Amino acid sequence: MEIAALIVAAGRGTRAGADLPKQWRRVAGATVAQHSVAAFRGHPRVTRCLLVIHPDDEALARKIEGVELVHGGATRDASVRAGLEALTGHAPDQVLIHDVARPMVSADVINGVIDALVTSPGAAPALPVTDALWHGADGVVTGTQSREGLFRAQTPQGFHFEPILAAHRAYTGGAADDVEVARMAGLDVAITMGDENNLKITTPGDFARADRLIRDKAKELAMDIRMGNGFDVHAFEDGDHVILCGVRIPHDRALKGHSDADVGMHALTDAIYGALAEGDIGQHFPPSDPQWKGAESHIFLRHAVELVASHGFRLSNADVTLICEHPKIGPHADAMRAELAKIMGLDVDRVSVKATTSERLGFTGRSEGIASLASATLIKD
Ligand code: MG
Repeated sequence: MEIAALIVAAGRGTRAGADLPKQWRRVAGATVAQHSVAAFRGHPRVTRCLLVIHPDDEALARKIEGVELVHGGATRDASVRAGLEALTGHAPDQVLIHDVARPMVSADVINGVIDALVTSPGAAPALPVTDALWHGADGVVTGTQSREGLFRAQTPQGFHFEPILAAHRAYTGGAADDVEVARMAGLDVAITMGDENNLKITTPGDFARADRLIRDKAKELAMDIRMGNGFDVHAFEDGDHVILCGVRIPHDRALKGHSDADVGMHALTDAIYGALAEGDIGQHFPPSDPQWKGAESHIFLRHAVELVASHGFRLSNADVTLICEHPKIGPHADAMRAELAKIMGLDVDRVSVKATTSERLGFTGRSEGIASLASATLIKD
């Protein structure tokens, strides 16, 4: 399926202030035209992108990568027609005609139009009118208008290519948009879901709003936060110390395990693997492998931390809870935090170790072993 985007940018509109046509003014670090082109170029279903420009804007338009340029005409209709004619060489199946002044068009709005074209020769996004409508003259309300069945039209307006080309060739001019041209030719146009943020930049104030919206969206897209949790249990056996979160604590029992049985560090390591969706400690260090017998658990934690970096993330914080009646954790908690922080390369104020009992209930309550819970948060760098 070939889907072309035809972005109409030939207008000279300077209503939005300044002496440059609004599509060449900068907003959130790029021109309005660049943002509009990026919305379609970045869309996985759009295969080709055409920008219809005024000949005077050629130098500005050449700075935009990945878009074909076509010179438009004196009116919007003429510009769309020029764009459609330019596409006839390798005619697409569908064309999405978009006003350049709507730089915040979302992938969802574009998808809605493309999906509707499966069953309709035309489709366009719109929002129902919710404000009351008046007629007015000389600053006075002269009448009211029902808003029933009224919509605010947006773009892109999508069509099967051949019918809209024929419709434009037959049209004599003066249409507000391509839906009007299509309907004059007898084509049905489905209404798809519009978006309040698919704003058409018209007034000077629209630039400030667009700037804020585009920057917020960029931040949102860049923000990739992952969270994982881990749980582990080790039983007591004979011995004289335990190792918890890398700290050796004298005790009248030891923890049983293939490695050093550091239940806290194991839960934390699993939390990190979990945040990365990278399995668990047993998959990376199989207990059946003799080389991990008696291994110090910082090997496992370091491996998980290295994996964080190789996935392009950084650790933000970690929180470990140890569940046991004895030994008492409180006196050792700060040493544990410091040890974990050192291994993970984190500031100690991003590492928490705390403890609880299970009120003498269950296996931890009967002092048969120690359980640990942990969670870790990763942020995409
Ligand atoms: Mg374990």
